[in-house]
Amino acid sequence: MKHILITIAAALALVPTLGAQESTWKNTEPELKPEVFELLNLNAPGLASVKAAHQSGDDNAAAAALLDYYRNRKGICTPEIRNAKKVKINKEQQKWADEALEHKFFSHKGYQPSYFYGEDINWRYWPVQDNELRWQLHRHKWFMPMGLAYRTSGDEKYAVEWTKEYIDWIRKNPLVKIDKSEYEINADSQLKEDAENSRYAWRPLEVSHRLQDQCMQFQLFIDSPSFTPEFLTEFLVNYHRHADHISHNWSKQGNHLLFEAQRMLMAGSFFPEFKEAESWRKSGVDILNREVQKQVLPDGGHYELDPHYHLATIEIFYKALQIADLNGFANEFPKSYWDAVENMIMFYTDIMYPDYTNPCFSDAKITTKRVMLNNYKKWAQVFPDNQVIRYFATEGEQGTLPEHLSKGFLDSGFFVFRNGWGQDALQMVVKAGPAGEWHAQPDFGTFELWYNGKCLFQDSGSYVYEGKDPEIMEWRKWFRATSHHNTLVVNDQDVDKVDSKTILWEPEGDVQVLVTEHPSYKNLTHRRTVFFVDGKYFVIVDEAVGKMKGWVNLHYQMPKGDVPNSREDMHFHSNFEGESNFYLQCFCDDMEQMQMKKEKGWQSSDYQKKVQRIDASFKQKKESDDPVRFITVIYPKQKAGEENVTARFTDKGYSESGVSVEVKVGKNKKKKLSWKL
Ligand code: MG
Repeated sequence: MKHILITIAAALALVPTLGAQESTWKNTEPELKPEVFELLNLNAPGLASVKAAHQSGDDNAAAAALLDYYRNRKGICTPEIRNAKKVKINKEQQKWADEALEHKFFSHKGYQPSYFYGEDINWRYWPVQDNELRWQLHRHKWFMPMGLAYRTSGDEKYAVEWTKEYIDWIRKNPLVKIDKSEYEINADSQLKEDAENSRYAWRPLEVSHRLQDQCMQFQLFIDSPSFTPEFLTEFLVNYHRHADHISHNWSKQGNHLLFEAQRMLMAGSFFPEFKEAESWRKSGVDILNREVQKQVLPDGGHYELDPHYHLATIEIFYKALQIADLNGFANEFPKSYWDAVENMIMFYTDIMYPDYTNPCFSDAKITTKRVMLNNYKKWAQVFPDNQVIRYFATEGEQGTLPEHLSKGFLDSGFFVFRNGWGQDALQMVVKAGPAGEWHAQPDFGTFELWYNGKCLFQDSGSYVYEGKDPEIMEWRKWFRATSHHNTLVVNDQDVDKVDSKTILWEPEGDVQVLVTEHPSYKNLTHRRTVFFVDGKYFVIVDEAVGKMKGWVNLHYQMPKGDVPNSREDMHFHSNFEGESNFYLQCFCDDMEQMQMKKEKGWQSSDYQKKVQRIDASFKQKKESDDPVRFITVIYPKQKAGEENVTARFTDKGYSESGVSVEVKVGKNKKKKLSWKL
């Protein structure tokens, strides 16, 4: 046999058609799995009666003794549930738990209301061919809410249903792998279908998610009469298969690997009775120690360059510390590990806006203030001496603000200009760094701007990741595209690579400057200079230098709402209610040569959610080797409406060693702005 059949029992289960009339839900009775006694270390403290019963050949009694042991086990808990008797449930969790009773499974926030997976559950139902929807079904996100509903209501129906769904999942999702060579031969076979399904159901990230959540489910349901000795053996054998699968199929890198490591650490800590528990735990600790050095750049940024994954990574590293602390092995993490986690938090503190939300760079979503406040409170417990964390954890009631205003993170390429830390601050975050990992986008030089309570130039975000559906891939391409950022694009092509060089970073004084350069295309370099003037406005100089020819478009993604504009003088301004407005105007050497283009733009701050806005660009044709240059003035202001702004180059054309311009903005004094190497 060339194919590898890992789980035999369930491989032949036929997949029902969704909504089949005759569907009776079979196959949900747990069976006693004697192999569990081989997986456990029966010499562990407390398992003597299990061992005795098993050795005398009475596995039913052994299983009953094992259940008794777990029901009375003390001193092991999860960070999420310290005491199963004292849990609470929120409205949303209650809804997911109740819907699950009807087989409407909460798999993904982006796909609501939840889909019905059939009376006789079809775990392969894939209503929208977005990979995330199919993967995340197998995270069983409604299982823990069912446990919470069970504990808070005492209603056995949740436990009955959970055990059935749990067993049903095992039966219908065998772990099957077929050799590539065998794949062709097995066309149309059940095995091939199972192997295909395993790619979703048994992707290590999903497996690790279940590995973690099943600890909580175990805590919540263990006392239920539905949690029988037979069920316990099924549960433990299934759990072991999960940990074993990860230990042989670690993701190669990135956040997936981190999640897996942290959850293996949890598995080893929560079920120390397994023979391999110690090695699971140790593999988790070792990987986290190794990856923290690799994934966290020296400036505290995470190498995916995505604020959302940055947070998720802090959460993983932090949670590992918490589990280790709860179970008495925190000393297995060296000081360098603790320092890296603290650095990551400080990095976030700088790029975050005064309302605690984050830039939407790369594949980021917006994290709410409520969630962030909770995060800071948690972090403050682990880093009690850090006064800045304390400040944000208490909304300024305790602790202190950082001593600096503007700050650059040169390894990650995040540059923050700011004139204050309060709601009324003016803050620009520029992203101009290395290529980053999978979630990073080809967006060199893009920025976001916060002013007086509002983010005015928000990144487009990501909207979706990927899938088989061509429409999903189209949207993915749209949101990732270089031209849908606040930056420069030639001939509408995505930049070849993102790898910028910081030429100058001057974060102090009346005129603060960032100069960054990037080999956008084979024959074209984009140099961007940002002047932050008197803490009041920004002047951005973009220069496209090289032999490449074509249309050079300088894009700005306008905020949603009333944004009048004029081709006469190449400007946009906002007419927003409230006191957060802006005026933006673009200039070049020969204004006759500039055109303005307005296209449909989008902003997405969460998966599968988007709002329409204007994608504006100013364009010049590059017909020779001569550089093409732009000056953009962005003047944030309280009042809506137009402004008098002028700007011009005062040098003799592009020079490798500097730039100089002159601007006059509103009632501010005329200003000469320049840098020179
Ligand atoms: Mg983006």
